[in-house]
Amino acid sequence: MVTDVRKAWTARILTLFPEMFPGPLGQSLAGKALEKGIWRLETMQIRDFAPDKHRTVDDTPFGGGAGMVMRPDVVDAALAAASADGLGPAIYLTPRGRLLTQELVGQLATGPGVVVLCGRYEGLDERVIEARGLIEVSLGDFVLSGGEPAALALIDACVRLLPGVMGAEETLDEESFTAGLLEYPHYTRPAVWNERAVPEVLMSGHHEKIKAWRQTQAEETTRSRRPDLWDAYRKRGT
Ligand code: SAM
Repeated sequence: MVTDVRKAWTARILTLFPEMFPGPLGQSLAGKALEKGIWRLETMQIRDFAPDKHRTVDDTPFGGGAGMVMRPDVVDAALAAASADGLGPAIYLTPRGRLLTQELVGQLATGPGVVVLCGRYEGLDERVIEARGLIEVSLGDFVLSGGEPAALALIDACVRLLPGVMGAEETLDEESFTAGLLEYPHYTRPAVWNERAVPEVLMSGHHEKIKAWRQTQAEETTRSRRPDLWDAYRKRGT
């Protein structure tokens, strides 16, 4: 099945390194879906929007300090072009952003697509973030050398939620975070490996007992590893 490309979910990436894409997104599930036209990947070179002949995108920070800052005028021109057809929202990947969660991924995957701005150097001039109302999103509490690896992760997480990308829909239902819990542990053959046996209940064929065991495992794993998620899950009363 080839999807109508005008309707396909679109990831439009603003970057100084377009050659980093599709990278891992050209492989496996995402790659096959890309080939089928279930989603579209577009890259835009930010440097193409620089007004000078040297195609300069950065400058020294006002107030001094190390490193360079991406210029607001250049990034604004790139964002204007990227948003001209109404594709949105526009996301700026930054360690200062809200944490990328499965909830946000789900919201992005149900829309028409995303415009993703990948930072480099020390980051972006604050004024263009404000002026464009960029949604600031972080991959986690660590610093990458650029936004591109974060963009690959964000897009991968969205693409696998698009209809027709994954095989069995129920795989998604039982995943970590979908119900607010981390996932239960998995086992496959051999039934005994290095003297470690698979939990008996999983060999019982008793679907209700297996379901209950998995729920208990998911709750216990979440409670011990992620008290923040566990508190939120209990408050929701689900
Ligand atoms: N000076 C910035 C700071 O301390 O927050 C770090 C800049 S980092 C070297 C360059 C770019 O990498 C950022 O502008 C951002 O686009 C991207 N980046 C780095 N860490 C990230 C993270 N945890 N999540 C999302 N993007 C990140």
